[in-house]
Amino acid sequence: MKQDTEGAFLLERNPDCASHDERAGLIAAPGFGRVFTDHMATMRYTPDRGWHDAKIGPRTGLDMHPATKTLHYAIEIFEGLKAYRLPDGGATLFRPDANARRFQSSAERLAMAPLPEQLFVESVRALVRADRDWIPSAEGASLYIRPFMFGVDADLVPDPASEYLYCVLANPVASYFKSGDKAVTLWVSDTYTRAAPGGTGAVKCGGNYAAALVAQAEGKRQGCDQVVFLDAVERRWVEELGGMNVFFVFEDGSLQTPPLTGTILPGITRDSLITLARGMGLTVREERYGIDEWQADARSGRLVEAFACGTAAVVTSIGEVKGREQAFTIGDGGPGPVAARLKSALTDIQFGRAPDPHGWLDRL
Ligand code: PMP
Repeated sequence: MKQDTEGAFLLERNPDCASHDERAGLIAAPGFGRVFTDHMATMRYTPDRGWHDAKIGPRTGLDMHPATKTLHYAIEIFEGLKAYRLPDGGATLFRPDANARRFQSSAERLAMAPLPEQLFVESVRALVRADRDWIPSAEGASLYIRPFMFGVDADLVPDPASEYLYCVLANPVASYFKSGDKAVTLWVSDTYTRAAPGGTGAVKCGGNYAAALVAQAEGKRQGCDQVVFLDAVERRWVEELGGMNVFFVFEDGSLQTPPLTGTILPGITRDSLITLARGMGLTVREERYGIDEWQADARSGRLVEAFACGTAAVVTSIGEVKGREQAFTIGDGGPGPVAARLKSALTDIQFGRAPDPHGWLDRL
């Protein structure tokens, strides 16, 4: 098979690729979102030409008019997925079709034309093939892939963008939390909410994250790793973390996670874990859970574990929860066994150590 095209994406090799040793050094200590591979995927959309100029080329800066709509009105959406190194040296993506579909709903919510699923998946495959030497092989490490798209019309009119630039970057990553496999501490945000009914909480647009930064900073000042947001109406129901969904584990062995009511992101890890847990014979409820209930259940021992999940953080136990009206420890405050079991089940599939009965891997 020819290596220089992947469907619509033409490959223009970067003449200044990192050397083998430079790359090895960068992969060894990558940090989340700081080190990027040699190439990027780009593609443009205009109403008259549709999607065009699909290319994998050297990663370079972008030249923008200062009136580019997105700089003023945040017409930007993104995705996050990973490529994994397999035991035989090959590589795989995990459920890229699900990211493609979520990218489509994000585009529609921001009044942009949805990118066809096939083009999204092809762009990711083509970039990872060009930069496959950047996929780490260390335990738990992977190549994080960041597709994003924004309006490029150069005017200050606050109406929908008609022209877009779509890009994909790739970044080798180790574990997301500096604490490694330790349980994290959450700060309950009672000042700020993340998403209101009718808002953009169920899609992945940059604006959601910008609006959550001040809450995250408050959580850090309180000595916590992450913020947990409550619903915007009653300020009672647990929704999700800034970049992760949340699960609760009860003493009867059942699991619960907030339902997809439009204000939380439908996480692909969340969906995968529900499938895996049910496959293990566990009961999983998609039901609302109140912050007061959480505190009472943690104290009484009815709740034995809680964990957060997402592509970047995988599965991470929650050890402690703090807020202006909360202070409680979950279990013994350390990583829990159900989280560990689900994390193994998921990562064993992702890294090709176990069979893939759901057809989630897209081998490159
Ligand atoms: N919630 C939010 C707000 C997120 O940013 C993410 C990360 N994409 C998640 C949940 C988890 O989603 P996924 O499992 O698809 O990474």
